[in-house]
Amino acid sequence: MKDSVLVVNSGSSSVKYQLVDPESGVAIAAGLVERIGEPDGLITHHHDGVDREHRGPIPDHGEGLRLAFDMFAATGIDLTTAGIAAVGHRVVHGGEVFHEPTVITPEVLAEIRRLSALAPLHNPANALGIESAMRVLPSVPHVAVFDTAFFHTLPMEARTYAVDAEIAKAHGVRRYGFHGTSHQFVSGRVAEFLGRDPGTLKQIVLHLGNGASASAIDGGRAVDTSMGLTPLEGLVMGTRSGDIDPGLVMHLRRSAGLDVDAIDELLNRRSGLKGLCGVNDFRELRRLIDDGDEDAALAYDVYIHRLRKYVGAYLLNLGGVDVITFTAGVGENSVPVRADALAGLERLGIEIDPDRNARRSREPRVISTDSSAVTVLVVPTNEELAIARFARACA
Ligand code: ADP
Repeated sequence: MKDSVLVVNSGSSSVKYQLVDPESGVAIAAGLVERIGEPDGLITHHHDGVDREHRGPIPDHGEGLRLAFDMFAATGIDLTTAGIAAVGHRVVHGGEVFHEPTVITPEVLAEIRRLSALAPLHNPANALGIESAMRVLPSVPHVAVFDTAFFHTLPMEARTYAVDAEIAKAHGVRRYGFHGTSHQFVSGRVAEFLGRDPGTLKQIVLHLGNGASASAIDGGRAVDTSMGLTPLEGLVMGTRSGDIDPGLVMHLRRSAGLDVDAIDELLNRRSGLKGLCGVNDFRELRRLIDDGDEDAALAYDVYIHRLRKYVGAYLLNLGGVDVITFTAGVGENSVPVRADALAGLERLGIEIDPDRNARRSREPRVISTDSSAVTVLVVPTNEELAIARFARACA
């Protein structure tokens, strides 16, 4: 247990946690505290192949963590005395301030709170989780790992919106990018897997989960990404629209009479695949398509069309690419998405091998043909391990 790291990912009514050995990458235990603040709170704790549950009211994040600690104790792990090296916290928005993992002081916590204006759905919840965890584990260093940090290198032309420059400056309006911990982890694993120096590789990483983002990475440095000021921009996602004409917002305001909160909810929670065909889970989407559902077929086509647009843009901006990598729930598991995203690109040196693509594995693997000029990979992401390693290095 010594030198392991507790990774905490705190949402508005939930806390995901994992105790990780940053050396071996083994997840010693993991769990989820759900429905905080509601009468029917639930904790699911997984350790040594056994799932344990706690049901009952969980008034706040602090109590949720205390109850989770009791579940650790029930399996023989006393986190307060186990000698863990650090607690690593996922923080969504680091703004212009945080470019790397940072040991949390009262000033850092205040700054994370101040950045809530840019991430109102996420940073307040992250701050709450940090505060609660610092109270239950006061003598261990707590480290914030920011979702935006990897993208602080975006060149000016990729990070700048073509809007009034003074307004943009006054309100922090620029492209920040998200899912950075995953893009950084996966692009690093790619170089390791290929036995190449990351400094020599031009990469496109496609993180396709419920949230989805693409990135262009040149010599280890992020040069473009599909998410922007918020995680709403870019690819079609489970429940988020991704790119739209910004005029749509004004149109809905004027014609449908929706206020800003209603539009926010519409674009973030009731759009994307769910908005188009009623389901956001990719497995259900495929089932609907197999049953002949036309809305689901269109949703899939829109998803693939957008994805190809980004791959094309990044191919051009990078001036050619060495590796394209699929990761996260959909990217790691959906054979048709990988095939359709890169179909018919042989003249660009991209050839998927159907048998390799159809093979299932939890390990990094090549799915392109031996003659493909561009190597296409599937590399499982592991954000918890990445956060644990950053926190260990910082503590
Ligand atoms: P997030 O972390 O953003 O919640 P994940 O990376 O866990 O998301 O990905 C969730 C998505 O992955 C869901 O849409 C789910 O349907 C999809 N997914 C998981 N397993 C499979 C599978 N075997 N085939 C197709 N899609 C899958």
